[in-house]
Amino acid sequence: MRLKNIRSSNVVWHKNNVSRQDREVLINQKGKVLWLTGLSGSGKSTIANALERKLLDAGFLTYLLDGDNLRHGLNGDLGFEEADRKENIRRVIEVSRLFLDAGIITLISIISPYMEERKKARNHIGKDYVEIYVKCPVTICKTRDPKKLYEKAEKGEIKNFTGLDSPYEEPVDPEIVLETDKYSVDECVDRVFQYLGITEE
Ligand code: ADP
Repeated sequence: MRLKNIRSSNVVWHKNNVSRQDREVLINQKGKVLWLTGLSGSGKSTIANALERKLLDAGFLTYLLDGDNLRHGLNGDLGFEEADRKENIRRVIEVSRLFLDAGIITLISIISPYMEERKKARNHIGKDYVEIYVKCPVTICKTRDPKKLYEKAEKGEIKNFTGLDSPYEEPVDPEIVLETDKYSVDECVDRVFQYLGITEE
């Protein structure tokens, strides 16, 4: 599905000679988008990194797109107001679709607090979208505070901080829920492997 609200209405889609399927045959895997959503400090980056390592070690071609890292480049012109957050997600969705088309197992680590935006991700990415809710109570995220962002937000140095003065709308029907206050990083990674049907030697 392609977005309809494009301004470049006279640009015609050129069909490539090489398809996603050709690439998937070459690298012997099926592309997926593993979309990790959750509060800051819930464990998205930690799990995504451990998961990517384990997938790669198991012979899969992966790529991790970290929402924070993307804000240093592609999305560096965007802030945290609602409109900018939406544009941020729109771009991440489009990049994910390119990686998926390349046949790559793409891990997205991004707070993505709005239900509507995640619904867009699901609709535009299609059947290979796997929503992973990295679930952890905000009270625990605050005590972890790996980037000291809650501390700054509580001092008023950061506005629109998810979980404090900006909402996080919990996923209602994610494919996977990882409760990081109850299970270790390794257990969470194993759960994703289980979902993907990857058996270890
Ligand atoms: P996020 O990317 O969601 O902002 P991070 O992965 O940067 O979160 O930080 C999560 C912090 O919580 C890290 O310091 C990590 O070591 C810690 N942590 C403790 N237990 C877990 C767990 N089970 N899963 C993931 N992270 C955990």
